Amino acid sequence: MRLGRFQVEIFSDGIFRLDGGAMFGVVPKVLWEKQKPADELNRVAMDMNCLLIRDAGRVVLVETGAGPKLSEKQKRNFGVDGPPRLLVELAARGVKPDEVTLVVNTHLHFDHAGGNTYRDGERLLATFPRASYVVQRREWEDALAPNERTRGSYVADDFAPLDAAGRLELVDEAVEILPGIRLDRIQGHTRGTQTVRVSDGKETLFFSSDFMPDRHHLPLPWIPSQDLYPLDTLAAKKVILPRAIAEQWLVAFTHDVPRFGHIREDAGRFVFDEVE
Ligand SMILES: [Zn+2]
Repeated sequence: MRLGRFQVEIFSDGIFRLDGGAMFGVVPKVLWEKQKPADELNRVAMDMNCLLIRDAGRVVLVETGAGPKLSEKQKRNFGVDGPPRLLVELAARGVKPDEVTLVVNTHLHFDHAGGNTYRDGERLLATFPRASYVVQRREWEDALAPNERTRGSYVADDFAPLDAAGRLELVDEAVEILPGIRLDRIQGHTRGTQTVRVSDGKETLFFSSDFMPDRHHLPLPWIPSQDLYPLDTLAAKKVILPRAIAEQWLVAFTHDVPRFGHIREDAGRFVFDEVE
């Protein structure tokens, strides 16, 4: 899809599954399962979306999916049932790994940063050898020092090798990382989660990160219980959703079907309309 001078595309690295109750926080199952049916283990299936942004010679990749390093047990636990699609999807769009100039991880959970690196014998190498990998400084610090609550979501092999290889770029708060591409830290899901905005002229694309994993999280109280700061998520939704409507942002989610759409308000409810 064109967005001003940018070419933007969204695709899925594959499906994984998390407990549906955890995905919808305080919302009772009788409500969420009408939107997203659970399997026999009470899990809901979700895509792991990656965003590709091209502008002249620049190739920016947002998120790298769960990647190729999961053990059989991890795949079972997280309901990952296929091989990672990231490199196949990039190749289908004519992008080779060494052509990616920038990788943005919205945060460092394994389902967003797993494809950052791969194993070559004993070594862990950057999947995108010429790219800078951009992460919020707070996310980096928290990922390297996880606590009992957060430990299960971070895998150091996904990000620690990037620092050693000199490929890491830490940013603070709100930055325009390339002309027209903005990152904003939004505390909520984690302290250092960042959203992505791509703008040219009046056109803006907003990539939600896990601040709002999919369209079912548009209603204000639908906030995952994984969020470490759920009331901050709530406050941010109250600011961002009206702005997304007023400025007619194109919106894409991390864990929805890979697609773009617009948000509108209908009788007090936020609604997502897909665009072709
Ligand atoms: Zn996620």
